[in-house]
Amino acid sequence: MGPAESTVPPASQNELQAMAYTDQLTGLGNRYRLRDKIRSLAAERASDPAPFTVALANLDGFKPINDLFGTMAGDEILCQVAHRLKACMPDGATVTRHDGDEFAIILPLIFERVGAERIGQMIKDVLSAPYDLGDRNVRLSASLGFSIYPFAGADFDELMKSAETALYRSKRRGRGQITVYSREIAQEMKRATQIEQALRNAIIADAVDVHFQPIVQLQDGRVVGFEALARWVDPDLGSVSPAVFVPLAEERGFIDTLSETLLRKAAEATLAWPRELFLSFNLSSAQLMDPSTTANILAILNGVGFDPRRLELEITETAVMTSAETASRIISELRAAGVRISLDDFGTGQSSLGRLRDFAFDKVKIDRAFVSAITKDRASEHIIKAIVTLCDGLELEVVAEGIETAAEAEKLKALGCGMGQGYFYGKPVDAAATLRYLANHYHEFAVVDRASA
Ligand code: C2E
Ligand code: CA
Ligand code: CA
Repeated sequence: MGPAESTVPPASQNELQAMAYTDQLTGLGNRYRLRDKIRSLAAERASDPAPFTVALANLDGFKPINDLFGTMAGDEILCQVAHRLKACMPDGATVTRHDGDEFAIILPLIFERVGAERIGQMIKDVLSAPYDLGDRNVRLSASLGFSIYPFAGADFDELMKSAETALYRSKRRGRGQITVYSREIAQEMKRATQIEQALRNAIIADAVDVHFQPIVQLQDGRVVGFEALARWVDPDLGSVSPAVFVPLAEERGFIDTLSETLLRKAAEATLAWPRELFLSFNLSSAQLMDPSTTANILAILNGVGFDPRRLELEITETAVMTSAETASRIISELRAAGVRISLDDFGTGQSSLGRLRDFAFDKVKIDRAFVSAITKDRASEHIIKAIVTLCDGLELEVVAEGIETAAEAEKLKALGCGMGQGYFYGKPVDAAATLRYLANHYHEFAVVDRASA
């Protein structure tokens, strides 16, 4: 034993034990305490069939606080959260800090959904009061996920997994949401796993396809490019929407493989088009958080022999926001390689005008929600007019999405919107039908095509 250590009396077995079960920052129990507590409660309740409840609380928007005000401020907030949770919990409850800004609460006397939701509301209210950081106050909200023993799981691992699923669903619905793991959620999870397996197989079997939808110049209706849209028909599940399977691939961690296949197919098909037409490809939010995205994309383009200057990548604001620094780096790298960037679904979600300035975009796509309301609703018309003016000033191109009627097209033209896309101009169709579309709608192409035949 070294001299320094000999001056401190050795910790007793009990003290060591307590330390191993304590979160140093907040003084709450840690993950091991949580596990022990749940295990012993489950063992107790196995003979006495009374349920109990596990809650996970995760702060919304905690990371930006850490980034903006420093980890000291972040730690201070975590301690205040711990304090508030301990103070408001019913008798018999145990609060632990589970991981980072995630807290777990074991509620031995909550037996069913309504009780869980009531306490969830209380926790949410308690955590959303302002936090005093000395020189400033900050506000945060919390998302909650609950699992009830034994329905949502009979042991620690299952209960935690169900609570995490519930929490994840809350997060996905926005801020300050409460979800209790239910039979319906269990059903949906089962179906998601079915889809996941089928999709993984479809990718291997090369059964996921890409369709293309024309994007036109509104002034003269001329095609300027196409958006690639993923299509998948499973023999058992039928046609599954990309709005279902793309988020699923993201969630289950294989969006890279899926997206790679799709981009390769799309780029290959594009090689047969007139050179001046661009390909617009949707990038998923997970890809904007992955630093290897640029290299992967450029490698695929290189492999296919596709000029990066013909590629546009559509990204959404949520994607940009979740991991702003990485996203911003990926965007600049891609732009440096000649790829253009479109901001998709603009006007929905968390639109911020500041984002148009902070990120280097080339194009903005106005969401269909405004376009389909434009002929009925003055407000939508004004919003589109404002977006067009704004984009003109910032030298951004504008595409209106989801144009279905001639009246909408006329209105958009009158408002000065440059480009459009929608069923009125063409539905998404496969590569072969796209070539036929080009032969019919793209004059130069028809000439070239005939010349080369
Ligand atoms: P999105 O990027 O906003 O794509 C536009 C969606 O609107 C497409 O739905 C398209 O078929 C549909 N649409 C186009 N014109 C009209 C119209 O006039 N009326 C109506 N009602 N709908 C129209 P789709 O193909 O079902 O795709 C849904 C979403 O799935 C896409 O929304 C996109 O977020 C995602 N997605 C599709 N393909 C891919 C892909 O290859 N990669 C990624 N990451 N996401 C994809
Ligand atoms: Ca899109
Ligand atoms: Ca869109």
